[in-house]
Amino acid sequence: MPSSSRRGTLAGIDTYIVKTVEWCNLNCKYCYFYNSQDTSWMERPRFMSPLIFDKVVENIRQHCIEKDISKVWIVFHGGEPTLQPLAQFDEMVQKAETLRADGIEVVYKVTTNATLLNDEWAERFARFKFNVGVSLDGPKELNDSMRVNKAGRGSYDQVVRGLELAQKYVGRGLNLGTISVLNPAIDGDAVYRHLRSLNIQNINLVLPEANYVQEPLPVRPGYGYFELMRDIFDAWIEEDNSKVNIRLFADMIRAVSGLTFASDQFGYAPVNVAVIETDGDLQPTDNFRACEDRMSDLGLNVLRNSMDDLYMDPFFSYCREQQDIIPKACKDCKFLAICGGGRVTTRFSREEGFARRTIYCNDLYRMFDHIERVLTSRGVATQYSNA
Ligand code: SF4
Repeated sequence: MPSSSRRGTLAGIDTYIVKTVEWCNLNCKYCYFYNSQDTSWMERPRFMSPLIFDKVVENIRQHCIEKDISKVWIVFHGGEPTLQPLAQFDEMVQKAETLRADGIEVVYKVTTNATLLNDEWAERFARFKFNVGVSLDGPKELNDSMRVNKAGRGSYDQVVRGLELAQKYVGRGLNLGTISVLNPAIDGDAVYRHLRSLNIQNINLVLPEANYVQEPLPVRPGYGYFELMRDIFDAWIEEDNSKVNIRLFADMIRAVSGLTFASDQFGYAPVNVAVIETDGDLQPTDNFRACEDRMSDLGLNVLRNSMDDLYMDPFFSYCREQQDIIPKACKDCKFLAICGGGRVTTRFSREEGFARRTIYCNDLYRMFDHIERVLTSRGVATQYSNA
């Protein structure tokens, strides 16, 4: 019987997505934040104040001490975090650094469109060893069909300028990767070749935030998300460069092989993520924005509530225990033990809540199957070899 994998038994929140800026200089057409179901961003301050950030850090400290958590991930997120004044960002990082005095290891991440990156920002990211994820979907024509500025013009040239600037700081502490939304408008091997031509080594592929209310990006006849993922995967395998990491596929290989994995795209990883809005509102993961307006508004705020209040909130509990809600349609699936019906937000429909299997079921199934075949053809035993 194939085995499933869980993230672990952490009884608390270890990942904090902090919305330091709640607006953006781009207007990407598929943006789950500004162009999806949720409109709460319209009512929030554009910037998080230092007072709110201080409170966030104190709440993290308290939660870590109470739950015996020794390592946290703090993700500077937006909107676009580099719209913030640099001096204010410096103040925030200095505050977050105080967690170390309590024995709490802090790992920083930032998600940025890189269009505003300059040496000052990159130097800060390098100094504090940030994992910098630059949003870039692939070749210019693909990227610019979706990732546009407020005037509707493509952002590719500015993104690549920022990316190349950030690359100068790799090796000085800055850890760089790209975040690419999968879009079947062009072939996967062209996407892979393009990212590699920019010397990207850490590639993060994400399925568009979609469900039975909000459809995925359109597919071409005979070329959908499976074919796109398969072609990127095959190009990656063909290059056979151990320095190139594609997290989605690394997780899939581990899953199919029966090893532990923790993917945010499929599987059973409980949601140990808090989102903190610019006004201090505490929410579960951002992905619920693509389901229903205000679905993730819980009435909790960092000025009044602890992280434990969020962790124990019924809706948050429901999110983090998604592994207990296996869609009926999945029960005889060969890959149930590793897929779990897909990420809970991609299962949403107005009629059945989260009870349906992921809208990407067919694509994920075929991708697991493809990976199993590739591994088997290379003489690698999988957990399905004798199933
Ligand atoms: S591949 Fe489809 S049927 Fe199988 S577990 Fe995943 S969502 Fe369910």
